[in-house]
Amino acid sequence: MGQHEQAVSIQNLHKRFGDLEVLKGVSLEAREGDVIAVIGGSGSGKSTLLRCINMLELPTAGTIAVHGEVIAMKSDGRGGQQPADRKQVQRLRARLGMVFQNFNLWQHMTVLQNVIEAPIQVLGVPRDQAVETGEALLRRVGLFDKRDTYPAFMSGGQQQRAAIARALAIDPLVMLFDEPTSALDPELVGEVLAIISGLAAERRTMILVTHEMKFARNVASHVIYLHGGEIEEEGPPEAIFEAPQSGRLKQFISSVH
Ligand code: ADP
Ligand code: MG
Repeated sequence: MGQHEQAVSIQNLHKRFGDLEVLKGVSLEAREGDVIAVIGGSGSGKSTLLRCINMLELPTAGTIAVHGEVIAMKSDGRGGQQPADRKQVQRLRARLGMVFQNFNLWQHMTVLQNVIEAPIQVLGVPRDQAVETGEALLRRVGLFDKRDTYPAFMSGGQQQRAAIARALAIDPLVMLFDEPTSALDPELVGEVLAIISGLAAERRTMILVTHEMKFARNVASHVIYLHGGEIEEEGPPEAIFEAPQSGRLKQFISSVH
């Protein structure tokens, strides 16, 4: 599997919640090694877009393909659609690692238990092997000494680093990050961004929703600016941040700097 193969392809994605149309035809291509940063104001549909990619939200219309495999959908009889094949959705999820704003670690499990759960339960990896991989990942995010600690006893930065290790444990094709640093105290943001930068440096495919514009400028290969559920502008980070075309994007960039 070489670089530049298609990882995730989203075509004309629509999502509505009742009368509210939150995504109005979003298309996105992530090839292997791409780091796609999604920026935009609050309520522009960034989280919904990420949640649709792993089917935590079901798209109202449009197609999602991972590694060229289109997720088959059928009508739900209420104007929306649902997956035609649950196994396919499980396969999709096993290829995506999701990191949430609020960490979402399992509170009743230690850090190591959090990290080995999906490999054992979803992928059927033998426990010894899951522990070995899990400990290596925890070493990598600087949490080896916290492996037997419960999340409640860790800082937000440590919890988010643990959540990144957990997402990496299934060796996903694509990592999805939803504002991974926005719930952190300012002094803890750097340690989490450093880990994500490291992943970008090793060309891990990522779709990253972020408010950290300098960070997006540095790590992204492509930037998408969402406004009102539509892509208002997209392009390489140099173009988006240094020569924005749309008035809304110009205003957005100056408002977050
Ligand atoms: P962002 O992440 O860019 O701030 P979201 O994707 O979270 O935006 O939300 C986009 C819009 O969709 C908002 O108006 C939000 O209130 C609405 N929304 C999100 N999730 C739901 C839901 N489950 N039910 C109803 N409305 C929702
Ligand atoms: Mg959001």
